[in-house]
Amino acid sequence: MPEYLKFEHDVLVIGAGGAGLRAAIEAASVPGLKVGLVCKSLLGKAHTVMAEGGIAAALATVNSADSWKVHFADTMRGGQYVNSWRMAQLHAQEAPQCVLELEAWGAVFDRTTEGKILQRNFGGHRYPRLAHVGDRTGLEMIRTLQDHGIHQGIDVHMECTVVSLLKDGDRVVGAFGYDRQRGRFMLFQAKAIVLATGGVGRAYKITSNSWEYTADGHALAYNSGADLADMEFVQFHPTGMIWPLSVAGILVTEGVRGEGGVLRNSLGKRFMFDDIPENYKSQTADSEEEGWRYTQGDKQARRPPELLTRDHVARCIMREVKAGRGSPHGGVFLDISWIKERIPSAAEHIKKKLPSMYHQFKQLADLDITTTPMEVGPTTHYIMGGVRVNPDTQMSTVPGLFAAGECAAGLHGANRLGGNSLSDLLVFGKRAGKYAAEFAKGKSQGKINTDEVDSIAKTTLEPFDRVSSSGSTGEGPFRIQHELQEKMQDLVGIVRTEKEMLTALDELEKLKKRSSVVAVDGNREYNTGWHTALDLPNMLVISEAITRAAIERKESRGGHFREDFQNKEKAFGEFNIIIRRGAGGEMKVVREPIAEMPAELKQIIEEQAK
Ligand SMILES: Cc1cc2nc3c(=O)[nH]c(=O)nc-3n(C[C@H](O)[C@H](O)[C@H](O)COP(=O)(O)OP(=O)(O)OC[C@H]3O[C@@H](n4cnc5c(N)ncnc54)[C@H](O)[C@@H]3O)c2cc1C
Repeated sequence: MPEYLKFEHDVLVIGAGGAGLRAAIEAASVPGLKVGLVCKSLLGKAHTVMAEGGIAAALATVNSADSWKVHFADTMRGGQYVNSWRMAQLHAQEAPQCVLELEAWGAVFDRTTEGKILQRNFGGHRYPRLAHVGDRTGLEMIRTLQDHGIHQGIDVHMECTVVSLLKDGDRVVGAFGYDRQRGRFMLFQAKAIVLATGGVGRAYKITSNSWEYTADGHALAYNSGADLADMEFVQFHPTGMIWPLSVAGILVTEGVRGEGGVLRNSLGKRFMFDDIPENYKSQTADSEEEGWRYTQGDKQARRPPELLTRDHVARCIMREVKAGRGSPHGGVFLDISWIKERIPSAAEHIKKKLPSMYHQFKQLADLDITTTPMEVGPTTHYIMGGVRVNPDTQMSTVPGLFAAGECAAGLHGANRLGGNSLSDLLVFGKRAGKYAAEFAKGKSQGKINTDEVDSIAKTTLEPFDRVSSSGSTGEGPFRIQHELQEKMQDLVGIVRTEKEMLTALDELEKLKKRSSVVAVDGNREYNTGWHTALDLPNMLVISEAITRAAIERKESRGGHFREDFQNKEKAFGEFNIIIRRGAGGEMKVVREPIAEMPAELKQIIEEQAK
């Protein structure tokens, strides 16, 4: 029988990004509660550190017309009304307080001249709403939460990957994982578990996401019987680097456009003015001059079309490229250098406002963004879909299992607005921690089935057993991951058709078969081949979930664009698509009606549409 390092917690949080840290802090604030926090990387290195542009919250420090109601309406419009209206309401109402709390814990935000938190423009937000720290907001958020969190008595298990959740009857009671350094098995017993594992971008070839984004939390939840929702909605951010190839996919923050950056095609034309969706016309500038004034804080001006929602901007870029008006390496040009025509000492201004972007292009592409336009194109950035949760408590459909942050669904609907993720992490991380603690209080630990644990441990080691004594190995995991990324990019990417997605399902089946006999050389100590072999089933099952949900949604909405069904259909706006594991292990696709929105929220949306 294998040996296990055993740990017991009241609440176990899996993931130490913004959502996980915030959840752990909240749970640990309950006296006497023992909280554990597990993460694949070192504490402070979660994907959230990469966040650049800011945290969306209606603090109204720059434009006093802003309020939770406008933020709520913007989020619902951006999500094309398939969001959970209750989550959008809670998020808009609670985000300002969460940002102020972060400030009180030591976050050093950029300031207005009067010393208030400075807020910047971002796509889909009617008013300047993103509290930020240059273009390194995620780093400041993680630093602050970490500094605060380490004083709360949380037990942190770094460089540990959870591979399975354990249940006692219906209820989740623990987790099984291994430490990445030494390969030792770790067994966690917990009364409540919060999943805060981030996204799935590593299932795609071109992505802004870090190595950690292998869909683990989504798969852990699905495998333990929890519902997933909205999996068809993957966000392709319009501006990723495309050249040189070694950096393809790395994000170019929307903050560049918020500071006045414009998109041009190879003819030098600002093509975003050519296609402004009907429901955004009244809020969008009708001249370049008005757009510029908006970025410089003119409260009477409307936003430039470069700041329309990400799904729309990404599709406009693809249209230019397809029409032969793209840049030399298959994207378009994003130009911030042009502001020298308007601002004295523009170069210094750009370096101050966008320091990371300046260094990113200088160091990785040998390009000075203060003098030269950048080449950009869409990159897989975010998944709106995830674990289906109760909007107030964040509990999934499995008792004791909670989810928050990017691995949870609901807030963003068909398309996330920039900045709404960092605020999501704070608002719903806090709520998940609170309600997980409430669930755990007064409960006893559940029963762990040791036979089940031994069987999981055995399966975990099987890739090593497939290396013969003569040393010849079967297929390794990296080629399979590479092929998965190519298939998802080509067949379930930014433009989708039924035919291609059915092909994707066949291809995924073949990859699953190959992954089930994957072989790994070497031993358990920091073996990236072994780690990838264990990540693969997660990416494969979640790729299938994305594909099946995308086939079911026979319309185009937000991040989901179907070439064979190009219009938005009213009937499809009335339900969410749920992915559920059937009794025989088969993947089920279910249409779940969206609850009727209360009259007062409907009224807000109507008022804000004017
Ligand atoms: C380049 C970039 C810039 C962005 N900028 C912004 C922005 O300005 N504003 C905004 O709102 N959003 C932004 N986003 C999106 C935002 O950063 C993410 O959606 C958000 O940080 C996700 O946070 P999280 O807490 O859900 O997950 P993460 O921060 O990714 O944390 C996930 C945690 O889970 C752990 N984990 C995963 N799997 C396991 C496992 N099996 N076992 C144990 N631990 C596990 C990881 O180690 C990690 O600690 C940006 C994204 C990118 C890529």
